[in-house]
Amino acid sequence: MRIQRYSDVIEKISEKAFYFFVGAVFSGAFGALLLRYRGDGMFLGLAWVLILAAIGMLAYGLFVAFTTTKVTSFSIECPICTEVNELTEKPEDDDITCVACNHRIPIRDGQVLPVMQVRCGFCNSLNYYSDKTDLLICETCNHEIPIHQEEGKPVKHLPKGFAVVDDNMLYELVLLDAGKGGEDVVKTLQSMLALNRNQVKDLLEEVPVTLLQGITRMKADMLTAQLTVHGAKAEARQIDQ
Ligand SMILES: [Zn+2]
Ligand SMILES: [Zn+2]
Repeated sequence: MRIQRYSDVIEKISEKAFYFFVGAVFSGAFGALLLRYRGDGMFLGLAWVLILAAIGMLAYGLFVAFTTTKVTSFSIECPICTEVNELTEKPEDDDITCVACNHRIPIRDGQVLPVMQVRCGFCNSLNYYSDKTDLLICETCNHEIPIHQEEGKPVKHLPKGFAVVDDNMLYELVLLDAGKGGEDVVKTLQSMLALNRNQVKDLLEEVPVTLLQGITRMKADMLTAQLTVHGAKAEARQIDQ
C-alpha cells in the first residue's frame, strides 16, 4: 500500500466531518423553523425528523473528527533540503517525494539513505543519488550521469549508448547552427576536432557542415549534447553503407 501523507489524511477526514456539520446545521435550522411556525400542523412530524437527522449528523461528524486523533504520524527529514515530511506510517522500502523540493527521498528498512551529490557532465547542474539509484538521469538536461557505487562492486549499469547493442551503424555529426558562434562553441569545437582557432572559425563560416564522420551513435549523441549545451545545434546522421 502506498504510504499517505499525514496532512492529506487529516485534510480528507476534516473535509468529511465538515460536510456532516454543515448538513446538521441546515437540517437543524430548517427543522427548528418548521417547529416554531408550523409546529401545530401537518409539518410537525417532518420538523422532528429534520431535528433528529441534525442530531445524528452532528454526532457522526464529531465521531469522524475524533478519528483524526487516531492517525499516526511518522516524520522523515529530507536529506536534500532538510524539510520534514510527515507520513501516516513508517515507510519500509518505499521512496517518498519531498513536499518542499520534489526530490525523491531514498528509503530502505524505514531509514533514510545518505544522498550523494554529483554534477552533470553535460550541463553542470547538481544531481542527487543514493545506494538505491541504478540509473541517474540529469534533472535538467535528461542525460545520463555515470555514477560509481562502492569500490569493488561492479558498476550497476552501462551508459545508455552501450545498451543499444543492435546499433552498429556509423554516423556523421553535422553542425546545423553554431548559435551565436560564441567562445564556448569555438572552444568546444577546438577540443572536439583538435583544430586551432582559425580552423574552427573557417569551419563556422560553412555551416551546415559535417564535423566528424564514421563515429558511433553514442559518440555522436555525446558530442551533440556538448554542442547543444553551448547553444549550437548539431545532428547525428546515419551514414548509408
Ligand atoms: Zn526536500
Ligand atoms: Zn545535465
